[in-house]
Amino acid sequence: MEQMFAFSAYLRKTLNDRSGKLTRRLLCSLLDHDAVLKHKKPKRASLQVSRTSKKERSSCQLILDHFDHQYHKELGELWTSVRSVLLDPSSWQYGVLLNRFTVVTDVKRVLLSKGFSTLLPQKEALTPSGALRAVFGAECQTSKGSPSENSHLDNSSPAAIQRPQWDGALGPPSSWLQCYLHPRPLRFPSQAHRPGQLKQYYLLNAASVLPVLALQVRDGEKVLDLCAAPGGKAFAIMQCATPAFLCCNEPDGHRRDRLMKTLESFLPRSLSGRVVVSDRDGRSFGQSEAGTYDKVLVDAPCSNDRSWLFSSAGQQVEQRLKERGRLPRLQLQLLRSALSAVRPGGTVVYSTCTLSSAENFAVVEAVLKDCPEAQPEDLWEEIALPLSNYFTFSSAGRGPGPNTQSAQPRCSSLSSYDRKLGILVVPQPCKTWGPMFLARLRKRK
Ligand code: SAM
Repeated sequence: MEQMFAFSAYLRKTLNDRSGKLTRRLLCSLLDHDAVLKHKKPKRASLQVSRTSKKERSSCQLILDHFDHQYHKELGELWTSVRSVLLDPSSWQYGVLLNRFTVVTDVKRVLLSKGFSTLLPQKEALTPSGALRAVFGAECQTSKGSPSENSHLDNSSPAAIQRPQWDGALGPPSSWLQCYLHPRPLRFPSQAHRPGQLKQYYLLNAASVLPVLALQVRDGEKVLDLCAAPGGKAFAIMQCATPAFLCCNEPDGHRRDRLMKTLESFLPRSLSGRVVVSDRDGRSFGQSEAGTYDKVLVDAPCSNDRSWLFSSAGQQVEQRLKERGRLPRLQLQLLRSALSAVRPGGTVVYSTCTLSSAENFAVVEAVLKDCPEAQPEDLWEEIALPLSNYFTFSSAGRGPGPNTQSAQPRCSSLSSYDRKLGILVVPQPCKTWGPMFLARLRKRK
């Protein structure tokens, strides 16, 4: 029998445990936003935006050699520019994903004044002013402004903001997702824990929202986030829609604690009945919960190129390289399990944050071979083309070919089979988002 942890029970426990210990040195964010806007020195931690200031870190030569060998084969000339971005953490960018369960009017004002713009067009008409109160009642924060103020965006974006071309593919649920990006690597400060108050935003690699957009969660659906910690994508899912049920699964205890903290910090308690945390091996869901979910996200354990390059030392390197060889098998098992757990007609999104073809396209190809009920869907038209102002997509991964020489392959030059195997976001100078691979599979009815 599956062990489920009620999110609400966890909330009660952690709030009690921490009530006496929590630091008072918290972001007094709204006051500080004003200070930033008026160019005054803020009294405490502030929303000062700075150039990304990662501590100097040295990369691991063995991992780099391994990447050079593999990715030159897979990405061709493109690898040279990807490599330079990966090796320069000061050029890395962070997106700011706003929390629709809080009042964010002032955060938005600061973001816009600093030159951030929204990744997705915001459709005010689709976020009715009473919606938040109807769904979340008193839990919706009203410390400043009203829920209705929070439930739509002020569209006072500077004229300079570039709007991508839309064919309407990224429909209503996505337009609730408020992700702000800056064209340069400006760093918005992270927000400290605020007892009794939800955090207003989450910092992330903006490519992380793409698998969630591809999942297209609608209100009232049953959703499984099979590999959920630390919870960035679960948070993003809850920004897009209000599922009837979201199961966030994470077998690793330490990482599960982080997941719970994320949920506690960003979601109102009134959602605790809908959002549960489970601790199982994701490979078991297919058997025990066959045909249960409308949507399943498999954000699989993977090589994580960015972090491996900088956090591998000594014996860990050997261990990681061995582990790398074993990952595709685990990924395939997780994807198969997800396909079993989804209902006929439902969809599974598979994603990783590595460039490795063996963990991306090859896993999708392998699952298509042995799961005839899985039907791959084309994300080029739906996601890659509309968002190509912000991200660089590649079809690379099947050996260097004409497409891999270009940082922005034309979708028309790809075979329809290749297009359906997924899309890969490759970090490039000025668009340093990624790596992120995503593919969507629909289970035939
Ligand atoms: N989706 C997360 C997010 O957006 O914050 C990131 C997920 S991370 C890439 C992959 C996660 O899968 C890790 O937390 C890892 O512990 C977990 N994992 C590893 N093996 C697993 C398994 N057999 N079943 C389910 N999850 C697993």
